Amino acid sequence: MNVKAKNCLVTGGSRGIGKSIALTLARLGANVAITYARSSDAANQVVKEIEETGVKALAFQADAVDFKKAEEVISEIVKQWGSLDALVNNAGITRDNLILRMDEQAWDDVLTTNLKSVFNYSKAATKPMMRARGGSIINISSVVGISGNAGQSNYAASKAGIIGFTKSYAKELASRNIRANVVAPGYILTEMTEQLSEKVLDTIKKETPLGRPGEPAEVSNVVAFLASDLSSYITGEVIRVDGGMAM
Ligand code: NAP
Repeated sequence: MNVKAKNCLVTGGSRGIGKSIALTLARLGANVAITYARSSDAANQVVKEIEETGVKALAFQADAVDFKKAEEVISEIVKQWGSLDALVNNAGITRDNLILRMDEQAWDDVLTTNLKSVFNYSKAATKPMMRARGGSIINISSVVGISGNAGQSNYAASKAGIIGFTKSYAKELASRNIRANVVAPGYILTEMTEQLSEKVLDTIKKETPLGRPGEPAEVSNVVAFLASDLSSYITGEVIRVDGGMAM
């Protein structure tokens, strides 16, 4: 997979799947910028690990909800590196609860962090990608956005929204050679899933034909493929990385 010298941005790249995506792209030769919300130490560590692979790295403390900040981050990357070739919208949170118990804040937090952020960064990336006559946007959804999940109505709505947004974006920007695709992970081992109870985890494993949780690297390999020119005829697609869970 050749992403050598491509300039990439991964939102929420300080931990979990985002960190794995950032390091995978770096190992394949891309320069990688990351954003994060709070974890400065973790973000600095990722920058160090990216630089150790011999490519360039940048980190921005940027709440993905902040529309103006998205423009600033992408302008700075283009100013320093000359272009933005691939954007990975990965930043995301959960605030799980049954609908009867879910408050307005939990709904708003999840919808803005997971879905509005995708609009913020995709919109900010569009002009630079148009100027460069191409680009690849990869949005991290979830199988829950395809199948729904009790206790995750806010999260599922945000992740389903990402799929609708991505297909619309792909149709609007295809003539400019900008591709947009979705990666929908199943149950992947990160701090996000550490919060799940043993009972829930056992059910998830039983419902996964491959019978095990996924590793972050199994998601990042697919993201790297979509960022590379090997996927040049793929746009508006949703690729599940879920061990068969939503089949
Ligand atoms: P994680 O371990 O909790 O990491 C989340 C990352 O997002 C962190 O880098 C965090 O930054 C960042 N982030 C959170 N809120 C942010 C905000 N407002 N602005 C900027 N960055 C923010 O989560 P994960 O498991 O790696 O999940 C990554 C993505 O994959 C999410 O979109 C998630 O919905 C999706 N996903 C995960 C799974 C799974 O099983 N893990 C399954 C399907 C989909 P800080 O370090 O600064 O907090």
